Parts: sequence; structure tokens; C-alpha cells
Amino acid sequence: MAGRKVVTQCTAAEWRSMCRRVKSCIPPPEGYAWRFVWSTALEGDEGDCSRVLGKDGRLGTFRIRVAKGLSEKQTIDVLLHECAHAFDWTEHHGWLTDHSSTFWIWLGRLFRRYHGLE
Ligand SMILES: [Zn+2]
Repeated sequence: MAGRKVVTQCTAAEWRSMCRRVKSCIPPPEGYAWRFVWSTALEGDEGDCSRVLGKDGRLGTFRIRVAKGLSEKQTIDVLLHECAHAFDWTEHHGWLTDHSSTFWIWLGRLFRRYHGLE
């Protein structure tokens, strides 16, 4: 179709760059570290977030996976979405799979931070 923009897949350089940006402007929940994985292993899902507990009472790591093969914009959206789960779980709900009202508040906050709006 004339005038339609071609959507290209996120490149490895774009992925690395967005991970650096998230790490620089969105510190993980207190006591945790971020681990971002660009994955071909996700089936039927664009991303997920899991908590990996540390040894010796350390809280550990939030492991966030984002599927390869999405556009750059989708990849950022999924990455921030999964980071919002990490904050929402830590602050409010324990370990739920749904999207509560506080989840959407976190997501808005993370979007503003990532895009330099706060
Ligand atoms: Zn979600």
C-alpha cells in the first residue's frame, strides 16, 4: 500500500541501547538488580518478568525477557511493561499475573522516565 511505513525488527544495537537507557534512568526496586534477556525462547508471549532470589538473604534479580522479532517501538513497550510488573509486585501485590490499577500507574511513570519527561 502506498505510503505505508515499513516496520523493521529491532536490531541488536537498538536492544543494547534501550537496555542501557533503562538501567541509567530506571533503577531497579531497592535490593534488586535488573537482568534483561532478548529471547527467542518465549512462546506466544512478547515478554515476561520473573524474580530470581539471591543467596545469603540477598533479594536478587528481576529477570526480564523480551521476544526477538518485534519492532524497536514494541520492544521498548514490552521492556517497560515488564519493568512495571517488577515495581508493582514489589510495592503492592506480591506475585500476580494480572494488571492492577497500580500496575498502570507504574507503567506511566516508567514511560515518562524513559522518555525524559520526568
Ligand atoms: Zn503484563
